[in-house]
Amino acid sequence: MSETPTWDYAPAPESSAIVNLKEEYGHFIGGESVPSADGATMETINPANEQVLTRFAKGGQEDVDRAVASARKAYDEVWSKISAADRGKYLYRIARLLQERSREFAILESMDGGKPIRESRDIDIPLAAHHFFYHAGWADKLPYAFPNQTVNPLGVAGQIIPWNFPLLMAAWKLAPALACGNTVVLKPAETTPLTALLLAELIQDAGLPPGVVNVVTGAGETGAALSSHAGVDKIAFTGSTEVGKLIQRTAKTRNLTLELGGKAANIVFEDAPLDQAVEGIINGIYFNQGHVCCAGSRLLVQESVADLLVEKLDHRIKSLRVGDPLDKNTDVGAINSREQLDRICELVESGKAEGSELHQSTEDLPEKGWFFAPSYFTGVAPSHRIAREEIFGPVLSIMTFRTPDEAVEKANNTMYGLSAGIWTDKGSRIFKLLGEMNAGVVWANTFNKFDPSSPFGGYKESGYGREGGKQGLAAYLEVK
Ligand code: NAP
Ligand code: MG
Repeated sequence: MSETPTWDYAPAPESSAIVNLKEEYGHFIGGESVPSADGATMETINPANEQVLTRFAKGGQEDVDRAVASARKAYDEVWSKISAADRGKYLYRIARLLQERSREFAILESMDGGKPIRESRDIDIPLAAHHFFYHAGWADKLPYAFPNQTVNPLGVAGQIIPWNFPLLMAAWKLAPALACGNTVVLKPAETTPLTALLLAELIQDAGLPPGVVNVVTGAGETGAALSSHAGVDKIAFTGSTEVGKLIQRTAKTRNLTLELGGKAANIVFEDAPLDQAVEGIINGIYFNQGHVCCAGSRLLVQESVADLLVEKLDHRIKSLRVGDPLDKNTDVGAINSREQLDRICELVESGKAEGSELHQSTEDLPEKGWFFAPSYFTGVAPSHRIAREEIFGPVLSIMTFRTPDEAVEKANNTMYGLSAGIWTDKGSRIFKLLGEMNAGVVWANTFNKFDPSSPFGGYKESGYGREGGKQGLAAYLEVK
């Protein structure tokens, strides 16, 4: 196989002209853009070129108080009084507006977060719209989701989301909350606030009553002020296990859902279609620069096919294009922040120091911006940090196994339990392993596939509660 399988393509960047960045963004509270009470602001950076995109408000306790009060007022006076069918109409309107403005959202998402335009355009934004459509349909059918039971909204939901899928996580959280009749205060991550703020504008265009959706931007302290607020009836958090545990201790409400980290095993048996498995492995770990909680970051491959699979994988990795997120040919974009890049580098160094062998794609990385070459480790022992800790970057740890039992034992040998993958020709083996794997989602002969009707969530330190599907509705309702 040739050493450098990539062809030179002419640059094909999307124009960012459709995005109208303001010089500064306020919080979205009570249907208006407002500055922080103390006037504090922060900047958000384009990770692909390290340039400041714009500034946004840095929220403190007073701003969170104001947003929670606004959500409470909207709940008491408007949202809890309108009909379920009307809630559904608003959600349909948001979904349609999102589709109409999808290009603008996709470009902004790639600029603020560094993900390839192909992914923001083809995955993040369409799925976000899909979540609103799906939940719009449920709004007036909740009694059918919970037959012979009464359901009531919880009230005001505080929602805190990470930077890896900024708009999609906002949609995952907002759509079920609103469909079930709650009002919301949403806190986006500090490195990626812009699509949540654009969504707030869109929600205003959709005519939602002021205060039903509020967005407070800022840093970790802003999130802490929201998650420990006595005025919220529900906290939904997606982020690290560390912060999730903190929230569990400080939240005043018992209605808590936590979607935390993962260290998924992607298991390839010798009878698997190997070329298809290679594409699944690539999608499992290099998709979105590996900034995916359910990424297939541990590859477990049956010993008899390990050499062949690694050879095919090596060849495929060398054909991945790393670079400008706005370029339509880019496979792997920018690492979301300097801090995250440092974390990846530190873990990769630990892998080398502990005796694993590092292999990397040989493509030149852009000089400006934060990038990391798609990488994999061989000779990994289950005790190595790179086999246990979440790297949250484009780095795969490869281990081998001999028997199905050994594969399951190794797969479950983690403090996490969010997702897993199985590649085999045998349907019976898939069903047997499904029952043995401690993971919230198990993909068979595919990886990283999402659908709003399918519940998503973890076991063990990957958190609890489910998002999506009927199970996800229950997290925003009191069911009696
Ligand atoms: P993080 O530090 O936990 O941040 C997540 C969110 O929490 C951000 O909005 C963050 O705000 C906020 N936050 C930070 N400190 C807080 C505190 N003390 N109290 C309340 N909120 C606080 O996670 P991250 O490093 O940004 O994101 C990567 C992690 O998220 C990974 O571990 C990944 O596995 C996990 N993740 C899980 C899922 C899932 O569905 N299970 C999905 C995506 C990501 P700032 O950004 O302003 O600090
Ligand atoms: Mg940014």
